[in-house]
Amino acid sequence: VSLFRLTPQREAVLDVVRRATDHPTALQILNRVRQGTPSIGVATVYRALDLLVAHGAIKELTLGDRGSARYDGNPKPHQHVRCTRCGRVADVSIELPRAAASAAEAASGFTVTSYDVQFSGVCAECTR
Ligand SMILES: [Zn+2]
Ligand SMILES: [Zn+2]
Repeated sequence: VSLFRLTPQREAVLDVVRRATDHPTALQILNRVRQGTPSIGVATVYRALDLLVAHGAIKELTLGDRGSARYDGNPKPHQHVRCTRCGRVADVSIELPRAAASAAEAASGFTVTSYDVQFSGVCAECTR
């Protein structure tokens, strides 16, 4: 984060993403940032998100919900589960067996350096 100037506006965006636990879209982040900084422009927020992603301060996730990227302020490696009914996305803090990466390497010929698994299902609230 020290590689670029963390202006108050960028800091406000970073703060919102870090505090969020629901993996918000850019639009949701815009609305939340505006609660504290009403005058901030759409382009400023979107550019800040791009910058923060480029510098590894936050992560951009594409979770198969028709193009709208989600943002994640949790820097630790983790997986995600997405509700197929309401679209809610939750963190899954498990480590996959090492054998999964070895099997992927054997099947593809790649040297696997990371993985990103998305589980799908129905959340507890939607099951009720
Ligand atoms: Zn749900
Ligand atoms: Zn996450």
